Amino acid sequence: MQDTSQMDPRQSEMASQAYLQQLKATFEQLPNEIPLFLFTAKGHEDVFTNANREVIRAFRQLSDKITLREYNLDHEQAKQWNVTHSPTLVIAPEKYTIHWLGAPMGEEARTFLEILILIGLGQSQLSDQALKVIQKIDSERHVKIFVSPTCPYCPQQAINAVKAAIEMPHKISLEIIDIQSEPELADQYSAQSVPQAFANDVLIGQGAQPEEVFVLSLEKLEAQTIFIPDSDAELVDTDLLIVGGGPAGLTAGIYAVRSGLRTAIVERDALGGQVATTPIVENYPGFTSVGGKSLVDIMVSHALQYVQIFQGEAVVDIQSGPPFTVKTNRRQFNTKTVLLATGASHRHLGIPGEERLAGRGVSYCSTCDGPLFKGKKVVMVGGGNSAVTEALHLFHMGIDVTLIHRRDKLRAQEFLAQQLVDNNIPVLWDTEVKEIRGEERVDEVLLINNKSNEKTEFQTAGVFIAIGYEPAVELAEKFGLKINTDGYIQQDGKHRTTIPGVYSAGDVEGGYKQIVTASGQGAEAAMTIFEDLINPYWLDGKNG
Ligand code: NAP
Repeated sequence: MQDTSQMDPRQSEMASQAYLQQLKATFEQLPNEIPLFLFTAKGHEDVFTNANREVIRAFRQLSDKITLREYNLDHEQAKQWNVTHSPTLVIAPEKYTIHWLGAPMGEEARTFLEILILIGLGQSQLSDQALKVIQKIDSERHVKIFVSPTCPYCPQQAINAVKAAIEMPHKISLEIIDIQSEPELADQYSAQSVPQAFANDVLIGQGAQPEEVFVLSLEKLEAQTIFIPDSDAELVDTDLLIVGGGPAGLTAGIYAVRSGLRTAIVERDALGGQVATTPIVENYPGFTSVGGKSLVDIMVSHALQYVQIFQGEAVVDIQSGPPFTVKTNRRQFNTKTVLLATGASHRHLGIPGEERLAGRGVSYCSTCDGPLFKGKKVVMVGGGNSAVTEALHLFHMGIDVTLIHRRDKLRAQEFLAQQLVDNNIPVLWDTEVKEIRGEERVDEVLLINNKSNEKTEFQTAGVFIAIGYEPAVELAEKFGLKINTDGYIQQDGKHRTTIPGVYSAGDVEGGYKQIVTASGQGAEAAMTIFEDLINPYWLDGKNG
């Protein structure tokens, strides 16, 4: 949904009004009614029930096609539609089996809006490639998607499942489950990170998947990581294809289109990269303090005024050029140049238990998974800005957090470090986590003090890890770009890589790893590309 919180109030009011009018017009054109049924336990007036009423009231102002009826959980209708939890929102039950356990709050309001539109349309809008796969499903699939209102990755995965349930209503049923409303259900499935997708009680996806990968996982009843499209994938011609929709890629997109280049961005996960899950950003000029996701929303709505963004699309192949052929799970781009702005991914500790218990108490995203640990004890590993910002975030959510750092001094800025002291957040200095233990989920960590060599077992329900990032260079490596000794894409100072026509920007090429520097690199790269396309150095046989 549009973020107008940082605008001048009058501008913001006008933008909100324009957006509402646009939504009303969209609903006006929908051919179908959108009946909603809210089931609640008798006398149940909790925050989720009230949130449902409020959200639905707001959406009903857009269209009288949306109707709401409320029932008690012991009503006959609940039995008929298999509703057992309060609150549950049942969506268009005459045609589909789509239940929402909890309420569409926060990030999930985006999912809800899309559901209403798809139900009103009566079409799944699955891509042609996804349709080919889903048609192979020949038995029932009961899907559960665990989400939280603060998780920017969740809407993509929930919408994938909604599309599947709309496409095959007689075979696919869906429950979208808010982990805050249904902690016991999340516990039962050991779903301690979001999003997580289960089909017939089998885990088929952790994190957001591109639509085609989700559908393939649903068909195979096993998590898939890659989808190779049929050769008749849609063809798109561009001057520049940007891979990655973080600050570097989005800024490059704005600059490139303003220079007149036909440009597209592909992003396999959530737009905004790491910023989308940063609780608070306090050093981006123009914003004294802004939520990472709010900053991303502003950047994305700005970029969308210029550049086409294909979200949920993963690059599966690049064939040499220029011009290059770049295949995603859905499309094939014929492009004169490619900019890799693939960012970085979370560094792992590489200790026993970490991989096995990922999503079972081990988390790399406090914004997404923090709500599951309210009132519980967790550890945050790391000593940089991320670990301290996220420890503070968890603390303010009502979580008993202890910071574990391998040295006796933090790398984080003094301003942040002082807040740890001010809030009495305990820090275990000179301490390393050697093992993460637990059967179904995390219950303790084995610690070692690296000065005294003393070992201790520390009871904890969660292990949040924020120990920096590794550049995401898999695609660059696969394509044969030179990687420097620090592990980043090698470039010539003007963002040209070792393959003519291929450029890099942002965290994948190293540097200071700040949002503002990533954006700056994106802008520079776009300007280099514009100049190179006027005067292609590769035609002179020169590189750089
Ligand atoms: P970082 O600055 O690289 O810090 C990583 C921390 O993790 C360090 O304290 C490091 O310990 C520790 N660490 C690394 N490997 C470890 C291991 N194997 N075991 C235990 N500890 C380990 O990473 P970051 O905090 O994610 O920040 C990344 C970048 O984003 C930085 O440039 C940061 O400034 C920026 N950022 C800025 C803000 C902000 O300005 N508000 C917020 C978040 C991030 P040592 O100290 O011993 O090396």
